[in-house]
Amino acid sequence: MNRPTCPLFSKELELHILEVKKGNRPNIGTFCKHCFHPFKIKNNTQVTNCKQCKKEIKSNEITTEVPREICLMLLEVRKIERTYVISFAFLGIFLSLLTGFSFLGLNFQFFEKNEIIGIIILFAYILVTGRLLANFFGGIGDKIGYLKARNKLNEQWQQWIKKK
Ligand SMILES: [Zn+2]
Repeated sequence: MNRPTCPLFSKELELHILEVKKGNRPNIGTFCKHCFHPFKIKNNTQVTNCKQCKKEIKSNEITTEVPREICLMLLEVRKIERTYVISFAFLGIFLSLLTGFSFLGLNFQFFEKNEIIGIIILFAYILVTGRLLANFFGGIGDKIGYLKARNKLNEQWQQWIKKK
């Protein structure tokens, strides 16, 4: 299947949408009509090529605002990515707690005899491994989340193209 690849989102467009969402700037500017990459136009010079989608831009192929649907696509991409990172990081913390308390269970007599030292060891273990595992699994979640979000974005992009 030879589908057109989704040219969203250029870094500049991403920044624009996030700033609009925060209310720091209005959704006004000069954007590529194909991929909504924002152009900085100096002294009325004509934009001829879009750096992002590589399309040749004619004067009527510019738009002055980013459509709501496109803004929502970015927010959804971000949400999917964030959900995966956070879920995987929690999995790391959960594994740290699970192994920590399993260790306590297996060495219960030691912990019973050395209560304070045992608790210190357990907390130190959870503190260190919790952080390491959260980072490690968060990194995996980041990669999976990116792919899932990209797939979703491509789907939405196909629908967007069909609608146009
Ligand atoms: Zn473009």
